Amino acid sequence: MPENGGTLYLVATPIGNLEDVTRRALRVLAEADVVACEDTRRTRSLLEHFGIRARTLSYHEHNERERAEELARRIEGGADVALVSDAGTPGVNDPGYRLVRACAERGLRVVPVPGPTAFVAAVTASGLPTDEFYFGGFLPARAHARREKLASVKALRATLVFYETPHRIAHALADAREVLGEREAAVARELTKLHEEVARGRLSELATRFSAEGAARGEMVLVIDRDVIEDEGAAETNASVAGLVAGFEAEGLDPRAALKRAARELGLTRDEAYRRLTSERARSKA
Ligand code: SAM
Repeated sequence: MPENGGTLYLVATPIGNLEDVTRRALRVLAEADVVACEDTRRTRSLLEHFGIRARTLSYHEHNERERAEELARRIEGGADVALVSDAGTPGVNDPGYRLVRACAERGLRVVPVPGPTAFVAAVTASGLPTDEFYFGGFLPARAHARREKLASVKALRATLVFYETPHRIAHALADAREVLGEREAAVARELTKLHEEVARGRLSELATRFSAEGAARGEMVLVIDRDVIEDEGAAETNASVAGLVAGFEAEGLDPRAALKRAARELGLTRDEAYRRLTSERARSKA
């Protein structure tokens, strides 16, 4: 390790509730020579909230490559750099990896300052087994790639955890139902914030629920059980029309075509599918 080198600190910050910041995080941020952050305005307002005056510098996915080298050189020269992301733990689906790598290659000290991270909070509150889980980051945005990704983890004997966005969650739940079979799942939304919610249920039930207008709001994590529910036959007939329709609409089909395709996939007539769609939507609003 270079004798006079500084340190890279990876500092976790809150994912919503500011009380979740650690005392150590605040001390390290106050003492660092530079705070490297994704969005300088956002991080400055966090620092101001805690009365910390610090020099900030942007480090985000678009300048990560150049900045990683530049920051590693500064650390080599003796500077202490604290890296934060917009929320949670830097490096977890956020920039960080390249800088850690650049420091490790130079033999510089890298110190994690742990704290909140959304997937850990979600999996622990999901009510699904926590002894073994697989974290897959964001599921792909495109349907084909998403289904391939889901198929690739189907046989894992682990709880599956993914980050999701409000406009894709219904689609992801419907695809998960189709590819993985009916399973217990949870959607953990707005964790640590005012509208925090952990919605638990079968994949098909959650697909229906989150396809209802306005239901899918905020930041969310999808958690899926490792086991398929035994009564698969019954589950098949109970599969959500609304979830499938939402998925097909998100792929670009108009509502009529989406309903037709959902009816075909479930072996229903269009009228039957329409009746089920209406009652599922009415139930999810109740
Ligand atoms: N670095 C962050 C961490 O440690 O969790 C993750 C950053 S990633 C770009 C943002 C995603 O994390 C969101 O789209 C959402 O899936 C999840 N997320 C972040 N904050 C959340 C919260 N308060 N509740 C639920 N999910 C959250």
